[in-house]
Amino acid sequence: MDTSALDRFLRYATYDTRSDEQSTTFPSTPGQLVLLRDLVSELKALGLDDAAIDQYGYVMATVPPTRGCEHAPVIGFIAHVDTSPEMPGHDVRPIVHRHYDGRDLLLPDDPSAILRLPDNPALAAQIGNTIVTASGLTLLGSDDKAGVAEIVAAVEYLQQHPEIPHGRVRIAFTPDEEVGRGANHFDVGRFGAICAYTLDGGSRGELEFESFSADAITVKFKGFNTHPGYAKGRMVNAIRVAADFVTRLPRDTMSPETTDGYEGYLHPYQLQPSVDCTTVKVLVRDFVTPKLKEKEAYVQRLAHEVVRDHPGSSVEFVIDESYRNMREVLERHPQVVDYARQAIRLAGMEPIEKPIRGGTDGSRLSFMGLPTPNLFAGEHNFHSRLEWVSAEDMDKAVEVIVRLCERWGRTNL
Ligand SMILES: [Zn+2]
Repeated sequence: MDTSALDRFLRYATYDTRSDEQSTTFPSTPGQLVLLRDLVSELKALGLDDAAIDQYGYVMATVPPTRGCEHAPVIGFIAHVDTSPEMPGHDVRPIVHRHYDGRDLLLPDDPSAILRLPDNPALAAQIGNTIVTASGLTLLGSDDKAGVAEIVAAVEYLQQHPEIPHGRVRIAFTPDEEVGRGANHFDVGRFGAICAYTLDGGSRGELEFESFSADAITVKFKGFNTHPGYAKGRMVNAIRVAADFVTRLPRDTMSPETTDGYEGYLHPYQLQPSVDCTTVKVLVRDFVTPKLKEKEAYVQRLAHEVVRDHPGSSVEFVIDESYRNMREVLERHPQVVDYARQAIRLAGMEPIEKPIRGGTDGSRLSFMGLPTPNLFAGEHNFHSRLEWVSAEDMDKAVEVIVRLCERWGRTNL
């Protein structure tokens, strides 16, 4: 299937849409608004008359139903426009490498940036294809501008092929996914779909409908500070207490460094030290939500033991819920995942189903009332200078979107 996804992607990649965790505005950076506004114009030009941007920067639009499908269920497609704050996202210069034959792909702006087949086994499936990389100094932003391009290309395809039956299809482009705020102001009611699909995944054929359940626990150790010259028998150093605690956290099991697949972990990832008070932030992850509570109880037991060994110290905890495993919601709506499997097969692939060791906007949207699994967009080496995507994978993603629209268009709930 020939689509406009590559051309669109090459254009979107040049916008600087890096998000910013420190920012308190929404969206977090003005650059995202530039692309979001231009997307409104593009959707209007494709005949989506209601395309609009709201006060938070969310773009929504409707592909009207084909005749006879007015009563089919309304479904949606979602992608995020921001790129990761971890890497430079300005002056992105996408490089198109045609007829890939397994050779090293040199990124011209940095001689040390080379994309090699032996380091990237997924490239083996791309022989003969067109690969897009960045130029060596920045990320590429296929996460998630590939998804944005695929959705717009699918809209164009549907508009050009009125013989393909489909119901009302809703489109949304969102800001600030990479800083975990992508769902914050998403108006599920206004979106008005029974389910949605994010296009924000990796290799062709991938379908993700399980994510971690996630909490963060802040462990706050209190000590007692006094002039160190006169501290004998009086000072209680909270840094020592916290260090003792971190040392006692499991390392050979239950850590990010030693787990994969369906295993959860405890991950101390931020430390704010002072003699008087030291806080340790610990990420808690598991695919089974009740097991989060077990892991949190374990952290609390451990901290209390440590405090007992440091007389005069004390400890407090704050637990923040981050997101939950979307499978808990999607299991109640089996059709949503089944139709995705069918659409992937109709596009000539075998679905590859694997759990996400993280969360997506879909994890939160699912719990906000919009069941939202994640489909492949062809992204590889996320958040890296060696990020790449292939034109053929993007076309396949467009085809999956079109087949999904058609499948739901034939459905009477
Ligand atoms: Zn993404």
